[in-house]
Amino acid sequence: MESVLALHNISKRYGPIQALNDVSFEVPEGSVFGILGPNGSGKTTMLSIILDILRPNTGNFSWFGVLGGSPDCRKKIGSLLETPNFYHYLSAVDNLNITQAISGRGTPADIDAVLEIVNLTQRKKSKFSTYSLGMKQRLAIAAAFLGNPKVLVLDEPTNGLDPVGIAEIRRLIKELAARGVTIIMASHLLDEVEKVCTHVAILKKGILLTAGAVDEVLVNEDIVELSSSDIDLLENVLQDYPLKTNIKKEGNILHLFFPVGTANLENINQFCFEKGVTLNMLLYKKKSLETKFLELTSATNN
Ligand code: ADP
Ligand code: MG
Repeated sequence: MESVLALHNISKRYGPIQALNDVSFEVPEGSVFGILGPNGSGKTTMLSIILDILRPNTGNFSWFGVLGGSPDCRKKIGSLLETPNFYHYLSAVDNLNITQAISGRGTPADIDAVLEIVNLTQRKKSKFSTYSLGMKQRLAIAAAFLGNPKVLVLDEPTNGLDPVGIAEIRRLIKELAARGVTIIMASHLLDEVEKVCTHVAILKKGILLTAGAVDEVLVNEDIVELSSSDIDLLENVLQDYPLKTNIKKEGNILHLFFPVGTANLENINQFCFEKGVTLNMLLYKKKSLETKFLELTSATNN
């Protein structure tokens, strides 16, 4: 997969506050990429940097392989960082006409299409002031989608919405992704990222903890670490061990992966012994979404 955006060693300070610390990752084309982290972890700062609203102190980034992006690249990127100022007494159509004229993104002919995408066609003539919060947010996404961008950057798009509004926005994000739009969205909700995103970068206090495919990063599984003096023999023997989902070798240690709750150390030990391999290390590690999230959000764990 091509990468749409690549960040290289981005750091950003606000006076004494290190908001981002040497952050690097890539966003694959067609992904729904979540920037996950608690409040204050640097998500908005990061989105502001990739949108040229803020300059990093060090590091750089490329859009579509172009270092720093280019005016041509910008046209392919729609964004929603802060709720735009729509006119309360004007309709959705009139508001989008104004947004389109000011931004120059897309043409007036696109307005009906974006309203259809965000499912506001039936209410397009209603005054903005009559909209629910969810509808207002969908109108904001419609505005960001003017000009048919290849990438949408959204900062906490479901914040402040009621459950119905949240469900609508999540469904819209998936629909846009199904059209081939790459979505980059900040969220402080693990659950949201798990439900909506294909990829994730987890930030804590400006430091990137991990990044990658959601089903790899946010795995819900048991991991057993084990070792013996002949690691290759051990690896061979374990090929026949039932129930495991994967084996990975890291240096002198093997990582055995199991569906959550199914790893059994005694069985593993006995199995190896019967095959003539004596273990010198056997360790159970439970990695779950909750563990990951606790690592991330724990106030005591600095
Ligand atoms: P998030 O979006 O994840 O909540 P932010 O990027 O908004 O995080 O903030 C990251 C850190 O930088 C926080 O400690 C925040 O207080 C600080 N910060 C953000 N913007 C500014 C600013 N303009 N001036 C000073 N500190 C800021
Ligand atoms: Mg923020």
